Amino acid sequence: MTHFINGRQVAGRSGETMAVLAPATGEEFTRIACGTAEDIDDAVRAARAAYEGAWGRFTAAERGRLIAKLAAKAADHFDELAKIEARDTGKPMAQARADIEATVRYFEFYGGAADKVHGHVIPFLNGYTVNVVHEPHGVTGHILPWNYPAQMFGRSLTASLAMGNAVVLKPAEEACQTALRLAELASEVGFPDGAINIVTGRGHEAGAALTAHPGIGFMSFTGSPETGKLVQKACAENLIACTLELGGKSPQIVFSDADFDAAVPIVCKAIVQNTGQTCSAGSRVLVQKEVYDEFVGAVAKEFVKLRAGTPEMDLDCGPVINARQRSRVQSFVDQAREQGIPLLAEGQIAQGVPNGGFYVTPTLFGPVPRGNRLEQEEVFGPVLSAFPFEDEGDAIKLANATSYGLVAGVWTRDGGRQQRVAKGVRVGQVFINGYGAGGGIELPFGGMGKSGHGREKGFLALEEFAVTKTIVHKHG
Ligand code: NAD
Repeated sequence: MTHFINGRQVAGRSGETMAVLAPATGEEFTRIACGTAEDIDDAVRAARAAYEGAWGRFTAAERGRLIAKLAAKAADHFDELAKIEARDTGKPMAQARADIEATVRYFEFYGGAADKVHGHVIPFLNGYTVNVVHEPHGVTGHILPWNYPAQMFGRSLTASLAMGNAVVLKPAEEACQTALRLAELASEVGFPDGAINIVTGRGHEAGAALTAHPGIGFMSFTGSPETGKLVQKACAENLIACTLELGGKSPQIVFSDADFDAAVPIVCKAIVQNTGQTCSAGSRVLVQKEVYDEFVGAVAKEFVKLRAGTPEMDLDCGPVINARQRSRVQSFVDQAREQGIPLLAEGQIAQGVPNGGFYVTPTLFGPVPRGNRLEQEEVFGPVLSAFPFEDEGDAIKLANATSYGLVAGVWTRDGGRQQRVAKGVRVGQVFINGYGAGGGIELPFGGMGKSGHGREKGFLALEEFAVTKTIVHKHG
């Protein structure tokens, strides 16, 4: 496969390619071009030309209509896109289908939103009219991870396109096939050449070149905190803003009066969905001490039934993305065992999975000592850690005990407590008596602390992908 620059597939300038492995089998199924700084420069120039040319002349309504056309086109190619996504990431088919459904919803949402971002008028001195209008940044850069590649195309690129920017994407080297296909489909429905550009390849080469390019007006990054810091530093050099979405250690807080029947399946799903490779995975379950054994026991009963398999087996989990991530997940499990942390339940790897695939078993530990690595670090795998707490104050303290702050779930029937805890937790999104790992196209999403800054999804994302201009007119 090649880059997608200026409306066409092009081979990389260097000619170098790298293998892409199917996580389900560990086997190479395609090769991608290794993008260089020159490829990035080509893509940024193409984007700039589109912004100053054909794409820049589109009205907001026309942009919206085109994004809506892409929604219909992607829906027409639903099965094809779901299969590509499942092969590329290893996720179960049901998850891949849910992801493509969400991708189409992003297109519908941002297509509909494009002409609904209004400016405002400020009452000022007599004889003046002051308007505040939203303008695009010009060319926006997008660096995305491998866990939800299609959805993130919908979430990050289309919000920016809706505001009139032209975009350059550096997808994750592990999984970039749906993004490349979506760019082709976008071209077919009439996006002008250069409005959408994709340069594949390694992070420290193509990714770093994108963040350093002086032609980029804004950066949207999703990935690890370590890379997020590098991205922010590069943006500082060019004095541009960025959004950083860097993962989390999100707590599910279960009080003694919670509806256990409702909570147990959702607590399990929130950590095994996408094999735990979700930034907003509910990776800590905090349970009031009086009901700790009962609740965690019920979760353990569900955990032993969980199975990991190939996309086609369509079980609870797939493999993780690559051998490095498998070793990382395994290192958390091994260390916890060595430390004598009780392993309460383990799922299974289904019989018949290919030997070379990157499978891990869903695992439940508890009680995990406070301050342990399992409390503090993102595993990015199906590993759930349980912690008992004393009372409401202790629950909030425990929820806020990590440097992350992405999402929290609060499970209680007490209305006052629902509100107090929702206000007390330092996160970007709170669910009361429910949980939506990765869900909610309409809902502003983003972190506090080490989880990053800026908001994606919903209408708030549109404000990130634009800049305001204040026009002061003295007319007497
Ligand atoms: P990463 O941060 O290394 O990669 C994310 C993206 O950044 C990829 O496209 C990568 O090519 C690019 N990149 C890497 N180095 C870069 C650089 N120097 N300059 C610019 N771009 C660069 O993340 P990863 O290796 O894919 O995963 C490692 C960890 O990140 C995971 O274990 C997990 O904790 C976290 N993660 C979080 C999310 C999330 O949604 N928040 C998603 C994937 C991974």
